[in-house]
Amino acid sequence: MRIVSDFDGVWTEPEREARAVHGTVVRELARLLGGGEEEAAGLYEEFAAAVLARPHAYGWRIDHRLASFVDEDFFCLPAAVGQFIENGETAAARRARRAVLSRWESLGAFMDHCFHSTCAAFRREVDHDLTPGAAEVLAWLLERGVAVTWATNAPAEKIIGWLGHAGFPVADARATEPGAAPLRVYGRAGKQWFGPTDRSLDVNGRTVRVDRPQYRAILERESPDLVVGDVFSLDLAVPLAMRVEGHPAAPRAVVLLARRHTPAWVLAAVGDAPDQIDHAIGHVTALRRLVAGLAAAC
Ligand SMILES: [Mg+2]
Repeated sequence: MRIVSDFDGVWTEPEREARAVHGTVVRELARLLGGGEEEAAGLYEEFAAAVLARPHAYGWRIDHRLASFVDEDFFCLPAAVGQFIENGETAAARRARRAVLSRWESLGAFMDHCFHSTCAAFRREVDHDLTPGAAEVLAWLLERGVAVTWATNAPAEKIIGWLGHAGFPVADARATEPGAAPLRVYGRAGKQWFGPTDRSLDVNGRTVRVDRPQYRAILERESPDLVVGDVFSLDLAVPLAMRVEGHPAAPRAVVLLARRHTPAWVLAAVGDAPDQIDHAIGHVTALRRLVAGLAAAC
């Protein structure tokens, strides 16, 4: 059996890293505004609340289209706050915009700087942040001959480093054939990049774009039995679209790792239709039960 899995939010607890990004944005904003961190934190909270009140309109924006929505993707809140500062018509947004643009060419460049500098520093400080039980599940899967390939937007070195620390060697998936090693990883998987078409899935009021050629190429090459992820738009929409098409590489099972913040429109997408999520699990350790069930059904 082959699993293609997301990494952050499935095998890790990303809240700590996300809080670190939030802290960087607040500190940098305070410096640019020339005020205190408390004032900057208050502004950030105000902007975040405005964004979360209209989650269908904010998220990880690529070429004026949303690669993921802010309510399903914990990591893209700073980017969405950047969008609000860029376009918001409140006095606070205008003031923050003037302050950021006095030093940065765009809000996007400022937020990218906050995000990448924090994540790089976090990886230097933290040798791993796997969720409790992750190593045990991985050992269990390996004992049963289940291959796991991660498709993640994080750099491959993060997964290779963190799992190496836990005693699991992981191969670079681009340098190895499927099946050549039990654990492989595609870093910088490009799940956010769109192709030329508007193909989409309608999911309980959200239009989720599914023409994402880089991620699709990975799924076509790996032909997984099961795909697991925590962000519907990035991780699950493409495999579901492939199943609707009747694509031979589409997975049998599409699994949502539901987190505390997973929104209702995603949870309501669990069902029996080809374009619906087959299973929702609350923690990666529940993969054991699911994999055992799928194996028994073969
Ligand atoms: Mg994730």
